[in-house]
Amino acid sequence: MRLGLLGLLYSLYALQYGLWAIAHGTHDESEDGDEHLELNARQLSLDQCNFAAQWPPGPGQLFTSQEPNTELRQMLAEIDPNRIEAIITKLVSFGTRSTLSSQTDPVRGIGAARDWIASQMHGFANTSNGRMTITTPSFVQPAGSERIPNDTVITNIMATIKGSTDPNRVYLISGHYDSRVTDVLNAIDDSPGADDDASGVAISMELARILATRNPSATVILAAVAGEEQGLFGSTFMAQQLLEQGADVQGMFTNDIVGSSTADDGTKDPFNVRLFAQGIPSSESASTVATRESIGGENDSPARELGRFSAEVATNDATNMNVRVIYREDRFLRGGDHEPFLDRGFPAARFTEPHENFAHQHQDVRVVDGVQFGDLTEFVDFEFTARVGRVNLATLWSLAQAPGTPRNLTISTSVLTNNSTLTWVPGSDVVDPNLAGFEVLWRPTTEPFWSHIIPVGSVTKTTVLLSKDNVIMGVRAVGKNGFKSPAAYPFPGP
Ligand SMILES: [Zn+2]
Repeated sequence: MRLGLLGLLYSLYALQYGLWAIAHGTHDESEDGDEHLELNARQLSLDQCNFAAQWPPGPGQLFTSQEPNTELRQMLAEIDPNRIEAIITKLVSFGTRSTLSSQTDPVRGIGAARDWIASQMHGFANTSNGRMTITTPSFVQPAGSERIPNDTVITNIMATIKGSTDPNRVYLISGHYDSRVTDVLNAIDDSPGADDDASGVAISMELARILATRNPSATVILAAVAGEEQGLFGSTFMAQQLLEQGADVQGMFTNDIVGSSTADDGTKDPFNVRLFAQGIPSSESASTVATRESIGGENDSPARELGRFSAEVATNDATNMNVRVIYREDRFLRGGDHEPFLDRGFPAARFTEPHENFAHQHQDVRVVDGVQFGDLTEFVDFEFTARVGRVNLATLWSLAQAPGTPRNLTISTSVLTNNSTLTWVPGSDVVDPNLAGFEVLWRPTTEPFWSHIIPVGSVTKTTVLLSKDNVIMGVRAVGKNGFKSPAAYPFPGP
């Protein structure tokens, strides 16, 4: 009786292992044979624990990441650490870039930095055959908040490459060109801001140089903003302007503190970059959040899907980097320029170096007990910043060349069923000539990344033989050019 039960269990094990091995393309011949009949119960239960991670079974092929194509690889190779170094060195040479510093001195202060960035961007635009336009939207932030003692002009610099087929769909990266020292109101003393955030501005500028001669399908914006340290003022203005213009911002990234691969204990971590991605959206109403929680959608906000997408397309041998998605809007006690975008319902996330050294941020330049404080150029790793630039470019280009993320995705809850019916509309304001069809993605609810793909063709409704109770499902668009959009996540529908 006991052997019979064990035999039955073994048969189930062998069947499941075989399915697992087929699914994973691995099958160890040495595992075959009668010796498995001698498997003891303890071993069996251990093995069941192992393949339990593969549960539940379901249709489709195993998920594989999109690989950069030849054109993208060529663009990634064009990112030049020497140019990154030259940009950061130049930005530091303005002495201070405090938002409260001089806006008219041609040599020192944020005004000189602003004019230099804009002139460089105009130079890139001159190579674009008119595709790239440079704007410097400006506004007065009135005195009143504790970090703005006087009315202060704040100016953003935006290099916009209009999309060739879907111009209203926008993807944007940004860095902030203002800097600070210990006292956020100190507009006089040297405030080099090499890492925070000349490094992020250097990525916007280097990508502008490379993309100026390219022709993205959707609109791409490379931005440098000010007023970050005083209260995210430049990015708030930019997000609000885009909202009021009706721009369909489907992805925004801030690069803020992306210059160093060295931790405060001196260890180096040069091949990882963190991507902070918010969970439950700050823009959602209480009732939508309640629905999201009721269906287990806390880990599938648009920002999380954007994070998954970046990890998929930018963790590879062409960037030589790992995108480490952090399930958090930002670090403790900190905020960034992605937040005004999130607050307006735009998917957004933040790139930051893997380990921060707080002696090199927001500090007066000084030596204490032989330790150098301050955000100095000597602490920046230009090769690392260039690789973060490649992560950004791989992400941005893959977004802009793919069709838009599907919209209004619902999963039918009209009747109790173990199938799942999904309905959506294409993710563009225009008929996209590149749109080839759609794919359903799924993963076990406990998995962080998509595990399976079900191609469903050129439809906007499909039923898959998979219980929505046991997995997370999404839908993404597939381009004729091979690029695929981030996934959309379904809410209950008819
Ligand atoms: Zn910063």
